[in-house]
Amino acid sequence: MASIPLLDLQGQYRPLRDELLAALARVCDSQRFIGGPEIEAFEREMAALVGVPYAVGLSSGTDALLVALMALGVRSGDEVIVPTFSFFATAGCVSRLGAIPKFVDVDASTCNIDPAQAAAAITSRTRAIIPVHLYGQCADMDAVLAAAARAGIAVIEDAAQASGAAYRERQAGSMGTAGCFSFFPSKNLGAFGDAGLLTTRDERVAHEVRLLRDHGAEPKYYHKRIGGNFRLDALQAAVLRVKLPHLAGWSEARRRNADRYDRLFRQSATADRIVLPARASGRTHIFNQYTIRVPDRDSVRAQLNKAGIGTEIYYPVPFHLQECFAPLGYRRGDFPVAEKIAAETLALPIYGELTESQQEQVVSAVASALR
Ligand SMILES: *Cc1c(COP(=O)(O)O)cnc(C)c1O
Repeated sequence: MASIPLLDLQGQYRPLRDELLAALARVCDSQRFIGGPEIEAFEREMAALVGVPYAVGLSSGTDALLVALMALGVRSGDEVIVPTFSFFATAGCVSRLGAIPKFVDVDASTCNIDPAQAAAAITSRTRAIIPVHLYGQCADMDAVLAAAARAGIAVIEDAAQASGAAYRERQAGSMGTAGCFSFFPSKNLGAFGDAGLLTTRDERVAHEVRLLRDHGAEPKYYHKRIGGNFRLDALQAAVLRVKLPHLAGWSEARRRNADRYDRLFRQSATADRIVLPARASGRTHIFNQYTIRVPDRDSVRAQLNKAGIGTEIYYPVPFHLQECFAPLGYRRGDFPVAEKIAAETLALPIYGELTESQQEQVVSAVASALR
């Protein structure tokens, strides 16, 4: 049988190819590669999608997180609360500023930050909480926002996997002090390389982020802050503007495929051996990843690989067990939920162009691996 990669971007690219190449040609013909109308238009379009007054294009999701913390003035000795289970950037950006990531465990069903543990971890040195909308489903934001408001600290949403996701009618990236987006090619809205964006309702934060992305200069060559080069490329903005109108439809197709996987797994003999992804109430999940949890995960993964089916482990090692964070003094057993998820999680192909028969092939391969 034909192999099924974890992600195949060709199906999304082909019908848009002419439009995308025309958009790239438009930028090339203008010879305006830094700043300019494509970026300004994309920022307006993203602000409208998220429902906030300000959106600032940035070089990556990682840089969006870093610049968000810089704009809030987070510095050496400050503490920032981070779920121990996420992509590395969520924690790395805290340490890069000399601040201390305070890890907390995640919820066993959604894999998102446990708001009670986040609230309990707040100290007088805590400056912010970074909830991650992992796999495309929003964290329990009402509880996180309430805890942060009580303590008077900021909330930075890591919405890198959640472009277009919603929580109780509110868009991902619209609820916290800032929302950080990634347009890495594998995200639901993917550029032709690295790209990111920050959203905010706070005019002061927006202004600070605009300064910081251009070496803190205002006006040019007069430096108010020590920033960096965190700019979004005009070429990437042009690509993203072609793709943005399709985002809702692509996410809908992913949801349809997720529903179909759920049904196929329930019909298969595997239902009692695996945990299907949870859908918490009041969320619009965009399924950037469809992750099952399965015992003996590594052997299941090896057998799927032999059957030509691409999978990935998001993520095999929680932050508190990463070598680079050893000086923080955490130990195995500190966050048992995240440790168990890290040992069992397995992402399956979920892109919208995946066909029903391909999904049947994936489900039957999982079933025979578990037999
Ligand atoms: C992808 C991702 C990032 C980083 O985004 P880049 O654009 O790759 O720098 C941050 N956090 C999470 C949860 C991500 O999935």
